[in-house]
Amino acid sequence: MSQSSQAIAALQEKLIAKDAHQPEFLQALEEFLPSIVPFLEDHPEYLEKNIVELMVEAERIIQFRVPWQDDQGNWQVNRGFRVQFNSVIGPYKGGLRFHPTVDLSILKFLGFEQVFKNSLTGLPIGGGKGGSDFDPKGKSDSEIMRFCQSFMTELYRHIGPSLDVPAGDIGVGGREIGYLYGTYRRLRGAEAGVLTGKGLDYGGSLVRTEATGYGLVYFVKHLLKEHQDSFEGKTVQVSGSGNVAIYAIQKVQEYGGKVITCSDSNGYIVDEAGIDLALLKEIKEVKRQRLTEYQKARPQAQYFEGSVWNCRSNIDIALPCATQNEINEDHADILIANGVKIIGEGANMPTTLTAVKKIQAADIIYCPGKAANAGGVAVSALEMAQNSQRLNWSFEEVDQQLDQTMATIYKTCKETAEKYSHKDDLLTGANIAGFAKIAKVMLAQGLV
Ligand code: GLU
Repeated sequence: MSQSSQAIAALQEKLIAKDAHQPEFLQALEEFLPSIVPFLEDHPEYLEKNIVELMVEAERIIQFRVPWQDDQGNWQVNRGFRVQFNSVIGPYKGGLRFHPTVDLSILKFLGFEQVFKNSLTGLPIGGGKGGSDFDPKGKSDSEIMRFCQSFMTELYRHIGPSLDVPAGDIGVGGREIGYLYGTYRRLRGAEAGVLTGKGLDYGGSLVRTEATGYGLVYFVKHLLKEHQDSFEGKTVQVSGSGNVAIYAIQKVQEYGGKVITCSDSNGYIVDEAGIDLALLKEIKEVKRQRLTEYQKARPQAQYFEGSVWNCRSNIDIALPCATQNEINEDHADILIANGVKIIGEGANMPTTLTAVKKIQAADIIYCPGKAANAGGVAVSALEMAQNSQRLNWSFEEVDQQLDQTMATIYKTCKETAEKYSHKDDLLTGANIAGFAKIAKVMLAQGLV
């Protein structure tokens, strides 16, 4: 064992003891820390200055109470959080998640990954994440509005266009950002740059809605291109049916691929003729219904309960776009048996560590979320730039910048992996490239 790997192993042990009750955060660290060892061997100054230990500690964590009244007049209370992880290269930037599973472990894992994702975009944004254990499922529009207003009544003190710029994530879309922004504006005045993912009429950017899904498909497109290949004629498996999944499906279809699955938290659709996107959008974006409605409207499609990753079929490319740890070791076996050649992560950490190891050992090209799903936050940074200019850029302009950003991220991950003798290991490439920039700046700024 080299000196660097010994130091990293010792640090990991210390962190496991410290945050034993935060499994997702520890998982993100376990995936990340060993992979940067080759870089640390070349740069002993980072271990000497203890930058890694500094970096795994969030700069600031805010936790608060969110009281709100339901439609029956009962007072409810939820927990609100903002994890301000790292701001050395720009204001904290990252989404808000409203989901009953949200706790500090989830938000620290997401905030930690966001730091490196944002670094990879090449744009001046630090990393943060926030949200609440509030469950939006089954809530009325008025309840959602009252919750968002209460949440922002506390959060507004801790954010600002040059300080911390939240956006959406699971359970937080255009509607929620609208209610959050309206409350911020009443409290602090109109400062469009404080949130991204806004409506187009009040400072939002074209392509932000599509950005994560489109960006994921652009990333895989650049990878395929390098192998003289394309999406044309490929069979694609997608999980999820939210914003990331919907726009990934749209772009794959545009490129001539066939997407045969999508899912929600109860079950999944298999539509061998290819997902009917207009129907899916109507059900999820307009009516906010469950996927069982898709099958009712399209009887040739099949609906199954459980995980979409249990689906057995011939698949070329898998795009997990739902949530963390959706693909476990058993699912990895099924993916291998299905003949999958590429996995591109639209969600954050959708694949467990053991599943990643299996997938990589089977020579499936694995595109980690922190690189492949960076298109969403990249366009958020472009939204911030437009807000500062008080201008709106055209769809083509933003879309082209998104495509270019994804091409650069892919190239950076690939070349970094090669440089550190991990050819084709895009996870190692992403982690080292993301880390190298942050570490250098932390050193330049005097370990702050
Ligand atoms: N929640 C998204 C992510 O995981 C987007 C964050 C943002 O736009 O700030 O990257």
